[in-house]
Amino acid sequence: MKLAADLHIHSTLSPCASLEMSPAAIIRRAHELSLDVIAVTDHNSVENGFYAAALGEKTGVKVLFGMEAQTSEDVHLLCLFEDRPPAERFNERIYSLLPDVPNNPDFFGDQVVADEQDNIVRHEGKLLLNALDISLPELLELVRSHGGFAIPAHVEASPFGLLVNLGMVPRELAGAVLEISYAARAETVVRANPALSGNPLISNSDAHFLKDMGRARTVFSARASSLPALIDAALARTFQVIYHGPHG
Ligand SMILES: [Zn+2]
Ligand SMILES: [Zn+2]
Repeated sequence: MKLAADLHIHSTLSPCASLEMSPAAIIRRAHELSLDVIAVTDHNSVENGFYAAALGEKTGVKVLFGMEAQTSEDVHLLCLFEDRPPAERFNERIYSLLPDVPNNPDFFGDQVVADEQDNIVRHEGKLLLNALDISLPELLELVRSHGGFAIPAHVEASPFGLLVNLGMVPRELAGAVLEISYAARAETVVRANPALSGNPLISNSDAHFLKDMGRARTVFSARASSLPALIDAALARTFQVIYHGPHG
């Protein structure tokens, strides 16, 4: 089956994202864009993804549980899970690794947990846009031990891309699925970094505004809409990245 996926979308819980990005609005927009699978990936938190997943079930949009975690090396990593209970446990663990620095909404923006009806559940008090007290190899292992999959985000882009901050793909990620940013093209990235020819390169929108959702999406030919099936399709390179908007 062909599955159009955008696995990197920020919501109202990311201080840098627009307050229009409620779980309900994201699901409506995903439905309009005919996205089959999405992930709501806020900085260091899965929480709004739980509400999005409940709504997605009603509208036929599959929502994977996820977050964009920031390692102690300042590398951004998409951490994705198929099932809710391990995602909840992972989320709690990550919160304990987040420095106890309060958010300054006037400077960084609000961090809003919103339910299925767009009601504000609470404002997150700790600044989510921060490096966790965990290294990249340790975080990869933590994701694996919770049954999830990790995809380094926008690897070629400053300031939080793997290649920018580490200068290389570490041994643990040999052959792994990587994300390049929505504005990049695989041929160009591989030409500049020949070592990446061994890694499948997918792309997502990294949307912080509704209009940007789906601006890059990955269409997988997969046996099912599950996360393991999408990863298998990526590793088998049975996918195509599609671009919309000004960069396409
Ligand atoms: Zn990022
Ligand atoms: Zn992001």
